Amino acid sequence: MKKRVLVTGGAGFIGSFICERLVEEGHYVICCDNFYTGTKNNLVNILDNKDFEILRHDITFPTYLEVDEIFNFACPASPVHYQNDPVQTVKTCVHGAINMLGLAKRTGSRIMQASTSEIYGDPEVHPQSESYKGAVSIDGPRACYDEGKRCAETIFWDYQRQHNVDVKVIRIFNTYGPRMQKHDGRVVSNFIIQALTNKNITVYGDGSQTRSFCYVDDLVNGIFLMMKKENLPGPVNLGNPSEISIYNLAQEIIDLTGSKSKIINKELPVDDPKQRCPNIEIANKELGWQPSFDREVGLKMTIEYFDELLNKEKLK
Ligand code: UDP
Repeated sequence: MKKRVLVTGGAGFIGSFICERLVEEGHYVICCDNFYTGTKNNLVNILDNKDFEILRHDITFPTYLEVDEIFNFACPASPVHYQNDPVQTVKTCVHGAINMLGLAKRTGSRIMQASTSEIYGDPEVHPQSESYKGAVSIDGPRACYDEGKRCAETIFWDYQRQHNVDVKVIRIFNTYGPRMQKHDGRVVSNFIIQALTNKNITVYGDGSQTRSFCYVDDLVNGIFLMMKKENLPGPVNLGNPSEISIYNLAQEIIDLTGSKSKIINKELPVDDPKQRCPNIEIANKELGWQPSFDREVGLKMTIEYFDELLNKEKLK
């Protein structure tokens, strides 16, 4: 059945892949974005499609639309961006969630919240299962995002209990791939661009902190399996459990690009989590989902994307 689907943050890195997939599946898509970090460039494949529409709107303000389903993916997710205007980040997480839940309630729509591994903070439990309650700073520089996203989850469960809204919560771990922004300060994009331009690779701290990186196609598959699944509100972790230290990631990217870059160390940001790795047993058992792209394969495709982007810019 053709649905009318709202994707907030639809012009962003992950949101744009969701919009494309929905259009491919034959739905009518309304992409809502305030273009703070999203860009129309991410949507070139569907901009002219008659079943696609862009709404420039900030979800911190209510909106009245008729929809059947909502993906709530609006919020800057890179530390550099979400810390640039922390008050707006909290508003986007909390007011945004309230506004979208209100819309879901009125229209009877199923609504998915893009939550995050950041709700686990600097975790003392490893790997992180959905039952882990997290170790989050209340007042640190990351708190606007972490606590904002925690509060968003809370309000999702309250709308479910109090108003019977059909909610879905996924917790997204570090994700990478084409359409990451060049200047968003993320480790994968930073390292690849530094390597491709033979600049120093900036490892923060001694690089012993770990992350687990999921290729965007794998994540999007998990998102759609979750959205379609009945009787599974979540929360469900979505990420790739293959863990690597940031120092080794730098080395891997140097090797894959054949770069002459040197690794240098810079100051570790405050509250930077020391380790992060998803336990994906629930996604695996309930959705039959697991990532299929090895890091080497995913990184090669991402390197190719940034290489083309840099070449185009040089041509300009
Ligand atoms: N990082 C780094 N160099 C960079 C950018 C990031 O060493 O140029 C580190 C950062 O301190 C963190 C990890 O890489 O430990 C992942 O950072 P990112 O901002 O990509 O994501 P998050 O911290 O939200 O997981």
